[in-house]
This record gives sequence, structure tokens and C-alpha cells, in this order.
Amino acid sequence: MNKPTLAERVRASHPVTCPRVEVHIHPSRSKYDRFWILEIDRCPHCEKPHSHGGGSLDHPPALGHRLSHCVTRRPLDYALVSSIEEGSAT
Ligand SMILES: [Zn+2]
Repeated sequence: MNKPTLAERVRASHPVTCPRVEVHIHPSRSKYDRFWILEIDRCPHCEKPHSHGGGSLDHPPALGHRLSHCVTRRPLDYALVSSIEEGSAT
């Protein structure tokens, strides 16, 4: 029996059933707060642009599941994915 890889365990515990959206990744321009800004051009729910924080610049940008910023009566979600093809460590 093969042990599941970390990626398989993450997928199993967080199944991605929500829409995936491509994200543009920028570092913040603030002198004091150095964090990633993750911007999407078009929300799959409201078709407007949104942006999310992606954590400290000391670490890779944190992509993945987010609640959209267009929440009205119930939360809507999506998964942020990089528009840059990344080498996957499987
Ligand atoms: Zn939206």
C-alpha cells in the first residue's frame, strides 16, 4: 500500500468543488506591510474584480479557497489558482 502524498491528503481534506479563478499576484507597495496581493479580474459570482491578501512576502503567496467579497445573503466561494504554470511537487 502506498502512503498518500501530502498533496493527495490536502485534496482529500479540502475537496475543491468551488469555481477556480486565475489570480494576478503582486507584492504590496506599502513600506511597512509587506504582503502579497492576489487580484482576480472577474469574479465567477458577480463578474467584478476582487482582491485578497496572500500572506507575508517571506512565504510563497497563499492561494486556494476564499470567500468572495460579493457576499450578500450567503457566502460564495472560489479557489484562487496561479496564472503562472508552477512545477508541481508530486
Ligand atoms: Zn464577486
